[in-house]
Amino acid sequence: MTTGVLFRHPSSLLHDTGSGHPERRARIVALTDALSSRDWLGYSVQSSPAATEAQIAAVHPPAYTDGLKALCADGGGWIDGDTVTSAESYTAAEHAAGGACAMVDVLLKGEASIGASMHRPPGHHAEAARAMGFCLLNSVAVAARHAVDAYGVRVAVVDWDVHHGNGTNDIFRADHRVLFCSIHESPLYPGTGPAQDIGSGDGTGYTVNLPVPAGSGDETFCSLVEHVIVPLLAAYEPGLVLISAGFDAHADDPLAGCEVTDEGYARMAGALRDGAASVGAPVGVVLEGGYDLGALTRGLSAALEAMRQDPGSADAATAGLAEHPLATQARARLASHWPSLVAPAER
Ligand SMILES: [Zn+2]
Repeated sequence: MTTGVLFRHPSSLLHDTGSGHPERRARIVALTDALSSRDWLGYSVQSSPAATEAQIAAVHPPAYTDGLKALCADGGGWIDGDTVTSAESYTAAEHAAGGACAMVDVLLKGEASIGASMHRPPGHHAEAARAMGFCLLNSVAVAARHAVDAYGVRVAVVDWDVHHGNGTNDIFRADHRVLFCSIHESPLYPGTGPAQDIGSGDGTGYTVNLPVPAGSGDETFCSLVEHVIVPLLAAYEPGLVLISAGFDAHADDPLAGCEVTDEGYARMAGALRDGAASVGAPVGVVLEGGYDLGALTRGLSAALEAMRQDPGSADAATAGLAEHPLATQARARLASHWPSLVAPAER
């Protein structure tokens, strides 16, 4: 069994979105209850520091974060129709980003090979200078940038949240040091992430969007991970893999129409852990969405348990998984930038 670390912070409970909001403190309460009752699945729990000003400023311009701080200092308020702040929201977001950075430090110093950063608000919709989709600071982007800047590694961000990670996509659009791969339901909020969006400039080919229709389940999501994303990891050879892990593609989630199961999350996590291990990279999970409390707690638990299994043990679970037509199409589409994704006979 692999040693893992899990970062959390009580400020996640203080970001108050009011009554009836799906992105609510009960998410963290449920996760904490479920994981603590099982001894945190063997992960070593650590308290998340706030991200430093410099770590945040490497992604978000100070004019933007100053505005967020001022809004929260005034008691908070609505930013758009989905995204609301309270007095403690910026503090919660600072620790969400800081926990992800601290996890990166542990992973890249070799102190653990798997990790989790379990906070709210989520982050992947936040653009450099725009809060949206329940997100204020883009935690996974701040963590990926920290890894690039402080350790000089390439980073693969795999976003399996059911919504497209538009913020992460945009922040690293022109950057080949971060490979961004997203599986997301389309059409669905926020409406971005078509397959044709492959990045720009120096980042052309390093944005991989894998939209799937409503109703997609384990067969689709797991095949895209196993037959597209894992081969991409082998080709890209990142020094770190970060999973933007939402659990709202789950069949029980109320905000979307996909049908992933607990077992599907375990398979995706195991396959990514194996893919990362094969290039010597550690893996860190950064919590994004997931709005059914049962699906959220079971999905994250299944993923964290699967990651703790020894590398290679996922082979048995995924053996015989048929390649989904969407994966075949994606490999063919990506072959101009990633020739190894198609076998010689298919080129
Ligand atoms: Zn989502």
